[in-house]
Amino acid sequence: MKCTNYFISKFEEIDSNFTYVLHNFTIHLTECQNVLFKLNEHKSNIVIFGTHYDSRTKATKDPILENKNNPVPGANDGASGSAVLIELAKVLYKQRRNLSCQIWFLFFDAEDQGPDNDYGIKEWDWCEGSREFVSDIDNFYNSATESFECMILLDMVGGVNLQFINEQYSTSSLLDELFAIGRQLGYTSQFPSNPDSTSIIDDHRAFLNIGIPSADLIINFWNNPGWSYHHTTQDDIIHISNSSLDITGKTVEQFIYNNYINNSDNLYQGNFPWNEDKNILGTEILITIIIIIAFVGIIIVLFIVSRSTTEKRIEPKE
Ligand SMILES: [Zn+2]
Repeated sequence: MKCTNYFISKFEEIDSNFTYVLHNFTIHLTECQNVLFKLNEHKSNIVIFGTHYDSRTKATKDPILENKNNPVPGANDGASGSAVLIELAKVLYKQRRNLSCQIWFLFFDAEDQGPDNDYGIKEWDWCEGSREFVSDIDNFYNSATESFECMILLDMVGGVNLQFINEQYSTSSLLDELFAIGRQLGYTSQFPSNPDSTSIIDDHRAFLNIGIPSADLIINFWNNPGWSYHHTTQDDIIHISNSSLDITGKTVEQFIYNNYINNSDNLYQGNFPWNEDKNILGTEILITIIIIIAFVGIIIVLFIVSRSTTEKRIEPKE
């Protein structure tokens, strides 16, 4: 419980009376703990920001055999989302009187121990903590007076070469909105116009199952030369980028300002509008090359034609 104590100390630095709830549960006799921090408890509509904070006990995808039983440091897969949530809490706390919603900062335990090549912890499934939380969610709010707006999950948001995917379980309108905001802020390579798509079993699913619109901001971790350290001992601080953390945080922050603000003075706005990707995609490069070749070809043909006409004009003088 050292980690949850650390979160509590960080939130108490923001406000010594920051409301929090510890949610204890056991998975196969192992004691686990989710932590929930609440901002603006007097507001009845709740926006949830979630992340898992546990890291995998075994580096089951490590390319080096003797590393496979070592723990994953989890700098990206665990710590990155947690770091962004703490910083978001600092920023949004300052704006709390301007906000028209309640915000939950929710840290899940027991997300990352399921089976890939092997189990993280034997017999454990993925996302145990979020499922336990949702099965007890009635204990954490008053369903007669409070309701949920949406849930935004941050998972692996701090790696170098950040590029989010179009996660297919996510509520598409919510994920589309986050992509649009990210692009408006200028983060067009992190929120690409043509993102990879797939479905990821992650902590947002438990919330979708009870009807809360939810989106997972996550990267391609299965086939990504830009960040190839998933479930290896190389998921460490060296492969983290401050700017990735910053971009994720500012996008989610702007989502709150766009939707839940009472007073629009002095709000952070990015350098939008940006409409085009800063990094040109492979297909676009190919199309550009084809156009250039075609253009050069036309010039060569015109040159040859003009030369032959000149030669013909000269002919009678011979
Ligand atoms: Zn993981």
